Amino acid sequence: SRESVSYFGAGPAPLPTAVLEKASQVLLNYNDCGIGITEISHRSADAENILKDTKSALAQLLDIPTQEGPDGYKIIFLQGGGSGEFSASVYHMTALWVEKRRLEIVKELGSEDDTKVFEALRKAVDEEFKLDYLVTGSWSLKASQEAARLVGANHVNVAIDSRKSNNGKFGTIPDESKWSLTPNPAHSGMVYFCDNETVDGVEFPAFPKVDADEYNIIADMSSNFLSRKVDVKKYAAIFGGAQKNVGTTGITIAIIKNSLLTQLAKPDLLRKLNLPVGPVVLDWPTIAKNNSLYNTLPIFDVWIAGQVMQSLLSKATSSSGPKIATQQAESEHKAALLYGVLDKYSVFNVVPDKSVRSKMNICFRIGGESDRDDKEKKFLAGANERLLMGCKGHRSVGGCRISNYNAVSVEKVEKLAKWLEEFAQQQQ
Ligand code: PMP
Repeated sequence: SRESVSYFGAGPAPLPTAVLEKASQVLLNYNDCGIGITEISHRSADAENILKDTKSALAQLLDIPTQEGPDGYKIIFLQGGGSGEFSASVYHMTALWVEKRRLEIVKELGSEDDTKVFEALRKAVDEEFKLDYLVTGSWSLKASQEAARLVGANHVNVAIDSRKSNNGKFGTIPDESKWSLTPNPAHSGMVYFCDNETVDGVEFPAFPKVDADEYNIIADMSSNFLSRKVDVKKYAAIFGGAQKNVGTTGITIAIIKNSLLTQLAKPDLLRKLNLPVGPVVLDWPTIAKNNSLYNTLPIFDVWIAGQVMQSLLSKATSSSGPKIATQQAESEHKAALLYGVLDKYSVFNVVPDKSVRSKMNICFRIGGESDRDDKEKKFLAGANERLLMGCKGHRSVGGCRISNYNAVSVEKVEKLAKWLEEFAQQQQ
C-alpha cells in the first residue's frame, strides 16, 4: 500500500496522499457537476477559478509581488517542461537585450533611420551580446548547451563551469572571485543559474553574489520550488517543472517580471539579425496576456499544484512573511537527519561539498573505488526490501540519491535514516 512504501524518487516524485485521493474523485466528477476535471473546458468558469486560486496560493507562499506595473510579476503556466524554459529564457532575454540596445542606438544616433540603426545594432550584437551561464551541474549545463544551439556558442559566456576546479566533476560552486561574468553588465542578456541541481545534489546556499540591479537574473528552480523562501524581486524570471515538489508532470510554472514582458524586440527584427524567434506556445507575453489559456492547458495539473499549495498554506504557522517558511524548516530538518547519518560514518561519502549540499537531492557514494559497486548494490537492495524505494543515483553519475521533497514525511525520512545507520554498522 502507499503507506507502507517510502518513495524517494527524484521526479516524478511523491505527492500528498490526501491530494491524490481527492484527485481520484474529481477525475470522475468535478464539483458535483457530473463531469470529470480532465473533461471540462479549459475556458470554463471552473477552470478560471482553478487558475485564480492556484496563482493566489503561490503568491502567498512565496510572497510574490503580483501588482500591475513594471515591478510586479505574472505567474504563468506553460507546457514543455523545464527544458522548454531553457529555450524560452534564451528567446526572451535575447529579445530584451536587442530592444534595449536598439533604443540606446536610436538615442546615440539621434535618428530613427532604419538602415543606420539596423547596421549599428547588428554590429552591437556581433561584438557585445552575451548570455551568462553559471554551470554548476548537468541541468545548467544542458541549459547553456541549448543557448549555444539557439544563438551560437560565441554569444554564450560560461561564467563558471564548476567541474574545472573539481577534477572534472560537479559538486562545488567556486568562490565568486573566480566567476567570469561578462564584465560590462550592459553586454549581458542574463545571468542564468540552476538553483538546485537534481542530478548532482548541488544547491545554491543563497542568492548568488551577482548584482541583480545590473544583471537580469533567471533561475531554474525545478527541483527546489516551494522548498524555501525566495526573494522574487531579485529575478527577471523564475521557472520550474511541476513534477517534483509541486504536482504532476505536464505544467511548468513561471514567475516573470512585468517590465520584461513589454520590452521585447519584434520577431521581424530578430529574424533580420539572425537571432531566434521562439514558438508562440513558449512566448511569455502571449501566455501572460491570455491568462495561461492561449492554447489548451492541462487544468487537472494546475488543480493538483493548487491543492499541494493549499496543503502547504494550511501548514503555515507564521502570520507574517512568506508562508513557505514552515515547509522550509521541515525540509531543513529532514535533510539534517539524513546528512547527519551520512557524515557520521566514513563508509558514506556525500558527493557535493558541504557548503553547497542540496536539501532536496542528497547524493552520496558508498565505500571506495574498489568496493563501491558492491556496497551500493547491497545498500539499495536492502532499501528495497524495507520498501524504501527510488534511492538509486541518476544513471549519468551512479551512486545513491535520496530526494527529500515536501511530500516525503519526516516519518519516512526517519525510516531511511534508520536503514542508513543499520547498513553503516554492518560495514564496520
Ligand atoms: N531542470 C532541473 C533542475 C531538472 O531537475 C529537470 C528534470 N529533472 C529539468 C530542468 C528538465 O525538466 P523537464 O524534464 O520537465 O523538461
